[in-house]
Amino acid sequence: MKIETIAVHGGYSPEPTTKAVAVPIYQTTSYAFDSTQHAADLFDLKVEGNIYTRIMNPTTAVLEQRVAEMEGGIGALAVASGMSAISYAIQTIAETGDNIISTSSLYGGTYNLFAHTFPQMGIETRFIDGANYEQITSLIDDKTKAVFCESIGNPAGNVADLEKIAELAHAKGVPVIVDNTVPTPYLCRPFEHGCDIVVHSLTKYMSGHGSSIGGIIVDSGKFPWAENADRFKRLNEPDPSYHGVVYTEALGEAAYIGRARVVPLRNMGAAISPMNSFMIMQGIETLPIRMDRHCENAIAVANYLSRHDKVSWVRYAGLEDHSDHENLIKYCNGKAASILSFGIEGGAEGGAKFIDALELFTRLVNIGDAKSLACHPATTTHRQLSPEELAKTGVSDDLVRLSVGIEHIDDLLFDIDQALSKV
Ligand SMILES: *Cc1c(COP(=O)(O)O)cnc(C)c1O
Repeated sequence: MKIETIAVHGGYSPEPTTKAVAVPIYQTTSYAFDSTQHAADLFDLKVEGNIYTRIMNPTTAVLEQRVAEMEGGIGALAVASGMSAISYAIQTIAETGDNIISTSSLYGGTYNLFAHTFPQMGIETRFIDGANYEQITSLIDDKTKAVFCESIGNPAGNVADLEKIAELAHAKGVPVIVDNTVPTPYLCRPFEHGCDIVVHSLTKYMSGHGSSIGGIIVDSGKFPWAENADRFKRLNEPDPSYHGVVYTEALGEAAYIGRARVVPLRNMGAAISPMNSFMIMQGIETLPIRMDRHCENAIAVANYLSRHDKVSWVRYAGLEDHSDHENLIKYCNGKAASILSFGIEGGAEGGAKFIDALELFTRLVNIGDAKSLACHPATTTHRQLSPEELAKTGVSDDLVRLSVGIEHIDDLLFDIDQALSKV
C-alpha cells in the first residue's frame, strides 16, 4: 500500500474483543500470564506476547508496526523521546572503547550527546567536516560501530548524500544510522538508498501538533550482522544479561531491533507511555496532507525572504541555488519540509528584534508543529555550544530559524513582513 494509506491503517484492524475502530489506549503496566510455562516462554523469547509496558505495549506496538511499514523496515522500537531513540540506536551496538562516525551538522541535543556525553561513557565520536564524506573511509577502524547522519539537518537544512555514505560505510562493514526526523518517511525513505537503521523524533512532524514527546528506531533488517561477527560481538555472542541468547541466531534479521528492546530499553528504561503512542498515531494519520501544506508554505516563505532587502541570506534546500538541491531531488522528491533559516542584517541584534516583533509565529524551540514557530538557535537550542562548535554545526549568531506551519500563507507573510519592518 501507499504511504498515505499506511499512515491511516498500518498495524491495526479493529481488534476482535471490542471491535474498536480507533486504536485502543492500553493503559496498563502489566499483562497476565496463562501459566508459569507461558511466562517462562515469554521471557525466553520463545512465544510472542506482552510482559510489562516498559518493554512492550499493544498501543505502542501499533505505532511501531505503522512507522516500520512507512519506512519499509522489518520492525521498530518506540521509546520516550527522539534523544532516547538516538542513544539506544547507538548503545545497541556500541560500548566503552568503541567509536562512531557522524556528520557534524546535527540537532543541538544530538551534537551534545555525541561530543560530550558519549565520550564520558567511553564511546568516541569522530566528526566528518561538512560534506567531505570520503573522510568516512579513513576514520573507520575495527572499533567503529556506526556512521550517523541526519537526512535533512536540523537546523542547517543540508541534505545528506545517503547513497554515498552507505557505500563508504558498507565497504568497511559498518552500518548507517539516519535521523529521518525532518523529512519523515513521506518525503524520504533512507532504506531505499541503502541505509540500515532509521531513528526519529516523533515529537516533530510525525506527531505534528506539538503535544507529545516520543521517538522510534526502525530496522531495515538488511545489515549482515552475522557476517561481521568480530565487529558486532554483542549480537553474535551469548548475552549473559539475557540468559545466554545469541541475537543473530534467535532473531535472525531482527537481531538488532530485538536487542534494542531487551537490552537498552529493558535495562535503561526510557519507555513511551501508551497515551503518547496514541497521540502520535493521531498525528501520523494526517502526516501526508500536512507535509504537503508545510512544504508549499515553506517555499513561498523562502522565496519571499530571498527578495527582502533586510534579509542577507536564506538557506532552504527547496531553493534551486542551495548546494544540496540535487540531493533533495534525489532523496526527498525535491521537497525540503518546512525548516528554513535566514540571516538578518544587523546580526544577532536584528534577529532578536525580528523574533520579538512576531505576532503569529510562536517563539519557541520546537519544529514540525502545525503552528508556525520561530527561534534563534544561538541563544536557545545551541547556547551550550562554544563559538567553534556553533560554526561546526552550521549556526551563525544572525541565524533565525523558522518552522513554517500549515496556516494560510497570506497570514504568515503578513506577520513576517510586519516583523521585518521593525528591524
Ligand atoms: C528534536 C530532534 C531530536 C530530539 O528529539 P526529542 O523528541 O526532542 O528528544 C533529534 N533529532 C532531530 C533532527 C530533532 O529535530
